Amino acid sequence: TSHYFGDNFSRPFNIKFSSREGDLKYVYQTSWGTSTRMIGALIMAHGDNRGLALPPKVAPVQAIIIPIAAHKGGVNEKAEAIKQALENAGVRVEVDYRDQSTGWKFNEWEMKGVPVRIEVGPRDIENGVVTVARRDDFSKTQIKIEDLATEIPALLDVIQKYMLEKARKFRDAHIVVCEDMDGLTAAVNSGNFVKAMWCGDRACEDKVKELTGASTRVMPFDQTPVGTKCVCCGKNLLEGEGKVIYFAKAY
Ligand SMILES: [Zn+2]
Repeated sequence: TSHYFGDNFSRPFNIKFSSREGDLKYVYQTSWGTSTRMIGALIMAHGDNRGLALPPKVAPVQAIIIPIAAHKGGVNEKAEAIKQALENAGVRVEVDYRDQSTGWKFNEWEMKGVPVRIEVGPRDIENGVVTVARRDDFSKTQIKIEDLATEIPALLDVIQKYMLEKARKFRDAHIVVCEDMDGLTAAVNSGNFVKAMWCGDRACEDKVKELTGASTRVMPFDQTPVGTKCVCCGKNLLEGEGKVIYFAKAY
């Protein structure tokens, strides 16, 4: 989140600087920071109908171990040993020992967005393996217990990259270049970002908002023109005139 405060805060707090002319003036301030909006964006960018899906780097719990048929001897002990091995490898990991059905636990940790689920059951233990399920694509694989301390951190890296790539592709597929208001309106109503030329006139910006609900979101550093006319008023733009700008609905 960023804001331009002007001298709204420097006046009450009396924050001044000595100007070139040698007198004291109030400073002009901006704010820049990570705010709750970032969390909203994360939920919307990665979540799905089953709930949250957290990128491994920011997930409070990166791997959840679910003991299967925990009443059988050795299962909980093995789950605990795997937890220790993963913790030693730097993974944020927990074991779900609660007295709930396996299906209930699977659903709950999926909803909470934990990137990796590790199922530890008696038959798998006999074979020296566990079943590992990914939250991002729901794929399942078997991994040797002795390899978990190297395989799980590697898998978390793969998931991190895959989720970023998937989100980027989705974003890029929803940016539509528009040259007139019909195109802009249709694109906005279908939930897209619109990339367009804008003459720079406030009246055009206001009109787009009034007609479509979309506002200017950002003016990119890359100002390679995407058209020759203002998307709103149709004014011809000579070289160097107008701005490339993104329009979208704000939520
Ligand atoms: Zn215009």
